[in-house]
Parts: sequence; structure tokens; C-alpha cells
Amino acid sequence: MIFNSIPVLMYHHVMPCESDLNVTPQIFEEQLRGLKTKGWKTLTADEFLYLITNPYQNRKKCVLLTFDDGFVDNFLYAYPILRKYKMNAVLFVATDFIADFEVKRDTFKPVPHREIWRIAFSERKHEVMCTWNELKEMQEEGVFDIQSHGHSHKIPDFINQNYLIEKDLRTCKELIKRNLHKESLHFSWPKGVYTEETIQIVKKIGFKALYTTQRGVNINDPFRIKRIAVKDKGSGWLKKKLIIYSSSLLSKIYSKIRF
Ligand SMILES: [Zn+2]
Repeated sequence: MIFNSIPVLMYHHVMPCESDLNVTPQIFEEQLRGLKTKGWKTLTADEFLYLITNPYQNRKKCVLLTFDDGFVDNFLYAYPILRKYKMNAVLFVATDFIADFEVKRDTFKPVPHREIWRIAFSERKHEVMCTWNELKEMQEEGVFDIQSHGHSHKIPDFINQNYLIEKDLRTCKELIKRNLHKESLHFSWPKGVYTEETIQIVKKIGFKALYTTQRGVNINDPFRIKRIAVKDKGSGWLKKKLIIYSSSLLSKIYSKIRF
């Protein structure tokens, strides 16, 4: 039996700006409209976990939208568009960057990804990253499901120092529990860096779904979830990717041609 694969899309920014890892609001809306028109269903994190562990279930035209890091542009630009189309997405946040105070957003100016990270690592981090209240609002509206991306975003520096990885992940999980009153079961690897050993650590802490930055198909392995990095290209581009990555056979052929 050939199972369908569930395509998982990976976004970072949605903002009106020329930048790496960014999709402009106009293109983002075009992509969502395209998904809706073609009958794609955006899954919640729970639904995705159920389907990836139950490959016999019908997962045709199911897609998971994910965002990494927790940049404030997700709140300002992606959230209203997702809400307009009544679509779901998962947002993996690095909890050390999330402020627990109110921030006025009328002065936010989109700048390129690299510059945003530079600000995120300064005392001005609240200017470019979401606050807990913003995360709470997006979750309560049923749009973004907030999940874990580690605390410090430094897991790649902690390889072979298992106790640091464990501490980082436990802190992240605890902060999400305290602020959003839920158990986070989904985790995306900062910078996509992981080893077979770090997978075991994350499993031990209780995470059930681990997201990589590698391309590929998702049949029944929740611990090596593959994602497609979404480009600032219209719904035609996205449609092609979805056709390729929802078929295990097509994506195998495609990856042979690509490399
Ligand atoms: Zn990240």
C-alpha cells in the first residue's frame, strides 16, 4: 500500500520587506487563497500528530503550516491573514526572546532577517519578537498553536553537552506551560541541527513530534518530520511543491533529479 505524505511548510517571516526567509503579505495571502481554492485543509498540531502516527487514516489534501522563532511580524502580518481564511498554523517559539510585558507595535519597521536576529540578541529583542500576550491571543483565536523551539536558540552549540540541551528544552517546555497553560509536544530544531543522540534526549523530555529543516516526505515518522521552505512565490509554485511532497513516489524521483 502506498501512503500519502503530509506536506509540512516552513515559514519564518511574513512582512513587506525584501529579505531572506521572508514571504510578503501579498504573496502569503495568495498562497492561502490558493490552498483554500484547491481544497487543502490546514491541520492543527494535534491533528498532524494523529495523522503522522496513523498512516491508514485519510490524509489527502492535508497540509501543516509551521513558523519558526516567534518574530513579531507573524503576529502583525501572518496572523490576520490566517484568521481571514480561517486557517491553522504552528508557531515554534524560542522562549528566551518572548517578553512578558506589553509592547507598542505602531513603530515596528520590517528589516531583513539578519538585522532582526541582531536586534533579537540585544536588549531591544521585544521590538522584533512576539510577547506572551500576543502568543496567547493568537492561540485563543485558534489560529496559531504555540510550540517549542528551545529556550535560547543555542542547541546547535550544545551538541555533546546533553545536560545543556536537556536544561534548555525543559525551560522552554516549562515557560510554555506557565504562560499558555498547555503541554507542548511539538519541537522544531533550532537551525535544523540534530543528531540521533539529541533525538533521544528530546523524546525523553516528552516531545512527540520533532521538526527538521530537511526536505522530504512524511509518512509515519514523527521524530524526523521533513519540511518545505516556502519561498516568496505565488500559489503556482506552492501548488507544484504540494503535488510533489504529498506523493512519496514523486518526491523520490524529484530529489534524484535535483541532486
Ligand atoms: Zn530558529
